[in-house]
Amino acid sequence: MHTRLTEMLGIEHPIVQGGMQWVGLAELASAVSNAGGLGIITGLTQPTPDDLLQEIERCREMTDKPFAVNLTILPTIKPVPYQEYAQAIVDSGIKIVETAGRNPEPFLPLFKSADIKVIHKCTSIRHSLKAEKIGCDMVSVDGFECAGHPGEDDVTNMILLPLAAKRLKIPFIASGGIGDGHGLAAALAMGAEGINMGTRFMVTKEAPIHEKVKQAMVEASELDTSLIYRSLNNTARVFKNSVAEKVLEIEAQSGATRFEDIQPLVQGVKGRELFEGGDLDNGIWSAGMIVGLIDDIPSCEELVTRIVAEAEEIIRQRLDQMISA
Ligand code: NAD
Repeated sequence: MHTRLTEMLGIEHPIVQGGMQWVGLAELASAVSNAGGLGIITGLTQPTPDDLLQEIERCREMTDKPFAVNLTILPTIKPVPYQEYAQAIVDSGIKIVETAGRNPEPFLPLFKSADIKVIHKCTSIRHSLKAEKIGCDMVSVDGFECAGHPGEDDVTNMILLPLAAKRLKIPFIASGGIGDGHGLAAALAMGAEGINMGTRFMVTKEAPIHEKVKQAMVEASELDTSLIYRSLNNTARVFKNSVAEKVLEIEAQSGATRFEDIQPLVQGVKGRELFEGGDLDNGIWSAGMIVGLIDDIPSCEELVTRIVAEAEEIIRQRLDQMISA
């Protein structure tokens, strides 16, 4: 498939692996890139900008294909030296960045001076238009189905993607609720140049997380996610486990929720331990509604090849026959 995404980034297939805290390590990013998609290293998973530089080097040893770095700007427990991470990305020679969470305008002059393509992840059309206006090269339109932070508008991709096609001049990719060839074909039909998948790539052989976490997502249905932090205006879609339910109980109590009341349950370091040790109730982890459609643990190569083949078949056979009939 040739799209503006494959052309702009020099990749074989229109499939991007989304930035994921504690999951976007060199093992996964290189596997996705070697499969012909775009792998992404998650910047803040590395404790310091120097560690990020080393992780990028490690990834370069595992692939000679293009890969990107994600920089997410959202509330964090500890202050993050974003500018230093951005500088490390530039110093590393990386040429594609995925920004997310907040308006990336402060970082654009630096990235643009280094000839970096910026893909900004947006959960609304107004943010997508803003991203276009400030000079982002592409947006990743993130529907309500997505894992992690879907914003507060709750608009699904069936609406967001055609709206993006209508209003944006820059290319966009579809993110949230996509995990198979049906999703890819549908995204292309709705005007996207490709897809971004996070949760689906977590359930692959190369994803650096415990097998029990992958198995839980294979067994989960589309109803097995929870929306937490709604009361804090920082909504996140996570896997429905006992910790997510406890957070929801605290948020439902009368009076304003204070982040301090839930912090011990949700802190990222607990999620990292969960991914390492496989104790599914140690903390929370981001997961999208697509868990309902995931029923195996393929390699990234198998997954990417399968999705492209499925989408091609849907377009060439099913859809084409409907028109010729
Ligand atoms: P962390 O340990 O600092 O915080 C844990 C969670 O609490 C995060 O979701 C964070 O947004 C939220 N949080 C922190 N302070 C808050 C506050 N004052 N009010 C409301 N919510 C608050 O975060 P981490 O797990 O080390 O992750 C680092 C960064 O990556 C964070 O910005 C986090 O949001 C982001 N992240 C993004 C996704 C995603 O949607 N792609 C998934 C996981 C983490």
